[in-house]
Amino acid sequence: MTAYDPENIFAKILREEIPSIRVYEDDATLAFMDIMPRSDGHLLVIPKTPCRNVLDASPEQLSAVMLTVQKLGQAVLKAFDADGVTIQQFNEAAGGQEVFHLHFHVLPRHEGLSLRAPGKMGDMEAIAAHAEEIRTSLAMT
Ligand code: 5GP
Repeated sequence: MTAYDPENIFAKILREEIPSIRVYEDDATLAFMDIMPRSDGHLLVIPKTPCRNVLDASPEQLSAVMLTVQKLGQAVLKAFDADGVTIQQFNEAAGGQEVFHLHFHVLPRHEGLSLRAPGKMGDMEAIAAHAEEIRTSLAMT
């Protein structure tokens, strides 16, 4: 498999070289808003240490990320009064991956409402407001 590239966009977000809207972090993981949200509240969970995806992640990276995915899944369910949560993850370009630092998508879902098409920039004010709702929900757990 190709080596991890420390210049990928999520590595830059981790180093705060480019901005992001963060909603949660602990010693091992970071959760921040996707800038092209496919549903309101769409966020990404990543490990703070380098790996490309599930295929090269260590057991420690996987378990830390999954615990944060669960925490954020529960938080968005409450924050958006959602009916469900879609958790998505892609491995390598042929598997649909575009950014090569392990990440899980957490997407709040409502009955009868389809995901929006990928690749469309979101309204940053709306995304920031959704992030605040998620932080509030996390603070109540
Ligand atoms: P994937 O690699 O799972 O196919 O998708 C990468 C995801 O990262 C996409 O949902 C895309 O909208 C998101 N993304 C790409 N560039 C940025 C960025 O600079 N900041 C944030 N917050 N998300 C990004």
